[in-house]
Amino acid sequence: MIRDQDMLDSLLATLERFVREDLIPRELELVETGVIPEDIASAMRDMGLFGLTLPEEFGGMGLTMEEEVNVAFVLGRTSPAFRSLIGTNNGIGTLGLVSQGTLEQKQKYLPKLASGELIASFALTEPSAGSDSGSVKTRADKQGDYYVLNGSKRFITNAPHAGLFTVFARTDQSKPGGNGVSAFLVERNTPGLSLGAIDKKMGQAGSVTCDVIFENCRVPASALLGKENEGFKIAMKTLDRGRLHISAVATGAADRLIDEALRFAADRKQFGEPIANFQLIQAMLADSKTEAYAARCMILDAARKRDEGRDITVEASASKLFATEMVGRVADRAVQIHGGSGYIQEYAVERFYRDVRLFRLYEGTSQIQQIVIAKRMLKDLQG
Ligand SMILES: Cc1cc2nc3c(=O)[nH]c(=O)nc-3n(C[C@H](O)[C@H](O)[C@H](O)COP(=O)(O)OP(=O)(O)OC[C@H]3O[C@@H](n4cnc5c(N)ncnc54)[C@H](O)[C@@H]3O)c2cc1C
Repeated sequence: MIRDQDMLDSLLATLERFVREDLIPRELELVETGVIPEDIASAMRDMGLFGLTLPEEFGGMGLTMEEEVNVAFVLGRTSPAFRSLIGTNNGIGTLGLVSQGTLEQKQKYLPKLASGELIASFALTEPSAGSDSGSVKTRADKQGDYYVLNGSKRFITNAPHAGLFTVFARTDQSKPGGNGVSAFLVERNTPGLSLGAIDKKMGQAGSVTCDVIFENCRVPASALLGKENEGFKIAMKTLDRGRLHISAVATGAADRLIDEALRFAADRKQFGEPIANFQLIQAMLADSKTEAYAARCMILDAARKRDEGRDITVEASASKLFATEMVGRVADRAVQIHGGSGYIQEYAVERFYRDVRLFRLYEGTSQIQQIVIAKRMLKDLQG
């Protein structure tokens, strides 16, 4: 649902200019330093980008899902690390708080999250609980008016920047899987919370992840998000929206890769003419364009259904599965069209090839999306 087309067009035009004039020219600097330049982070705060999806009454822009994916298509056209800085505040790091938080919790955190003064992270994955996220071992034991957290979380995006973590921990050891898991809002400066070393990753330089460790970390009972033992449901609902967002970012990245490949093909000459004249090159360009268009259509359809209040678990998983696998194929073709240059770091496609690999892994691997879709198909068959 688009609430005001003119306002959205103006936001998208501003973002397109920001991506083209401010972010794309700084991509190499980002790779070399591994840090988002402070003036860029500050411009993102000034533009309100940390609060794109947060409710307007708490200082955000309150974008609908359809508006959000349109924004993500645009942000996807530059290095994903730029988007990642604002990604957790607009997605997995705050969705639980927005949907399940008490008024007091919302008033305390959302205005600071919307302004970018505070960064939020989502801490679900553990060393032994990845795809099987319901098997988390981190425990939260109730002691009077407090919960005491012990355990560790792995690969947590933006953890080194974060001031607030949504942490999933087991509150009932007797209940199986996700049933005994609760969600907590844990502030960075809580004694007993520490961070591991920053992970060295394949790509997405500038987007940081690390372990988050809890050792007798005492949080007040008021830090509980939603009801006790119902945290896993919050995590799963959070992933629905996050998956659609990632699908749109992946599709934006595919658009960028197609542009890079097209321009290179028009410019590069072999056998006395631009390689773009060769039909085998044209086939790769056309397949990429077609697949990116298909992803865009799926994502917009799913986003509109979500805005209508419909259950989009299958559509979100199908979009993520298709869009993130699609961008992998598009990146591969873009490197192929560049020939040897595609393997050289000064060309954006070399970097994007590595950057987009992550999309098939986090917020549910491709196999997990397949399982979600097939499970629902079988359930529907049984009635
Ligand atoms: C850069 C980065 C950022 C991340 N950010 C966050 C974050 O902010 N917060 C957070 O909580 N987590 C985060 N993660 C974790 C991410 O969500 C997990 O890595 C992902 O869900 C996969 O879990 P795993 O790595 O343990 O792999 P595993 O679950 O061990 O999977 C290994 C392989 O087995 C397959 N597999 C597993 N189960 C099945 C099955 N039943 N059937 C078929 N195949 C299966 C998987 O698809 C995969 O191919 C991040 C990860 C990375 C790399």
